[in-house]
Amino acid sequence: MSEPSIFSRILAGEIPSEIVAETENVFAIRDIAPQAPLHLLVIPKTEDYRNVVELAAGDPALLTEMVGLANTLAAEHADGDFRLIFNTGAGAGQTVFHVHAHVLAGGLAEGSLGG
Ligand code: 5GP
Repeated sequence: MSEPSIFSRILAGEIPSEIVAETENVFAIRDIAPQAPLHLLVIPKTEDYRNVVELAAGDPALLTEMVGLANTLAAEHADGDFRLIFNTGAGAGQTVFHVHAHVLAGGLAEGSLGG
């Protein structure tokens, strides 16, 4: 077994981070280095999937649940509009290989893709 991911350690309470939302299968935290006025990470509790491609192939319902939670949180914490980013692969900036969605919201209209 490999070491638990940083997100699993946050979920277990081993690393402090406010859990902004939690359902049976998914949870959300604030990114420690926000890139937008609202920058949340929506994360499945399982770390079986390293990236969104594996998740989409292995458990599309879980991916759908993540998108739904992102939508709910963007409405609760911002104006409802949001950018959803899955960095996929180290070359694209992925640093944590436990699939997660970046939810960016608030004041994004000026930016192009990636803001
Ligand atoms: P990636 O680069 O893999 O797409 O995204 C990983 C994200 O996790 C980064 O945006 C980074 O700021 C965030 N992150 C890394 N360590 C921690 C942490 O300990 N707490 C929180 N809240 N976010 C973290």
